[in-house]
Amino acid sequence: MAKQQVPVLEGWFTIDDRPHLLGTRCKSCGTYYFPKQSVFCKNPACNGETFEEVKLSRTGKVWSFTNACYQPPEPYVSPDPFEPYTIVAVELEKEKMVVMGQAVEGVNVSDLKAGLEMELVLETLFEDEESEKLTWKWKPVA
Ligand SMILES: [Zn+2]
Repeated sequence: MAKQQVPVLEGWFTIDDRPHLLGTRCKSCGTYYFPKQSVFCKNPACNGETFEEVKLSRTGKVWSFTNACYQPPEPYVSPDPFEPYTIVAVELEKEKMVVMGQAVEGVNVSDLKAGLEMELVLETLFEDEESEKLTWKWKPVA
């Protein structure tokens, strides 16, 4: 029987065929936030205190990338034992904000270059008795 698939971080992304990261948008100035910001707007020119949840663009362009040879800090949840992987910073298509994530398995730094089109996908990070824990990853658009 297939295990239930659940997000490793609840409320950070949708789990469907075309997954989206979930961010917030300041209702006053329109600034996007990921992770979600919901207390006060970080824009120094804005006094906004109300935010709406938004699905962020699921595509964007490579802005930067690196090897992660050390376990990153929270909120990045890593398999245990930790295995090195590729981290990609992607500039989202619409919001023009940069969101970090792991590259999908099998994608190395030599496969990436700045400006490459990427899309958001979900992969199983690890599983326990009951469920597979999904996280978002960046995948080059075929
Ligand atoms: Zn604002």
